Amino acid sequence: MSRSVLVTGGNRGIGLAVARALASDGDKVAVTYRSSPPPPDLVGLHCDVTSAAEVERAVSEAELRHGPVEVLVANAGITRDKLLMRMSEEDFEATLDANLKGAFRVVKQVAPKMLRARTGRVVFISSSVGLRGEQGQSNYAASKAGLIGFARSLAWEFGKRGITVNVVAPGLTNTDMIAALPEKRIAEMCAQVPLARMATPEEIAAAVRFLASPEASYITGAVIPVDGGAAMGH
Ligand code: NDP
Repeated sequence: MSRSVLVTGGNRGIGLAVARALASDGDKVAVTYRSSPPPPDLVGLHCDVTSAAEVERAVSEAELRHGPVEVLVANAGITRDKLLMRMSEEDFEATLDANLKGAFRVVKQVAPKMLRARTGRVVFISSSVGLRGEQGQSNYAASKAGLIGFARSLAWEFGKRGITVNVVAPGLTNTDMIAALPEKRIAEMCAQVPLARMATPEEIAAAVRFLASPEASYITGAVIPVDGGAAMGH
């Protein structure tokens, strides 16, 4: 495979593992980053997904380097955890803006050429929290649940053009995102997981790689949990 792939937030964590997995299959991978560039073996494009202008520029650059995007992985995301009574409107809006509207901005930029090509893969990185909720994460859960409705609507809109749109819902994964959590809290969270541990970023990337692969050609609108069983039944 030598497809043009774009991964948002691919400089670290889950996005980096996804980028590496697809690059190792032979795909031409560009990743976006906001704070620090990716390792030198990957093409990095500066882009804050909360800016439509930056998204437009990054997608144009990816297209110039590798051709129209054939596989999009919308991975960039943030948390601003607080109980509702302490959550400001800004906390809520900023999380929705990065996690949900950010995905909207990127898909909107790549979609015209994907639709014209009548082939393509879109994968959104949601979260098990979007399926089962979590105290202190109502903004994050809303953004991640929103991605599911968004993806399923696009699956209907794009299906006749041979484009699949799917969601991966990771559980607790060992990245910078959870680095700020106290060890005790992580242990408590792992105790709620049937597999009794966190995921590695590579385990999440494996599901994305499958959804982007030819073997997944008849899967669209699906939500694949990669959560050690944490959201079982949801
Ligand atoms: P990290 O915090 O390690 O990485 C987050 C990535 O998102 C970084 O690349 C970051 O870029 C990028 N990003 C954040 N905000 C923006 C923005 N406004 N514009 C562009 N890029 C942005 O987190 P993970 O790798 O763990 O998370 C990746 C995805 O997986 C997220 O959507 C997250 O919600 C989801 N997820 C994570 C879980 C976990 O337990 N870790 C569980 C379930 C889902 P930069 O480095 O430049 O800031």
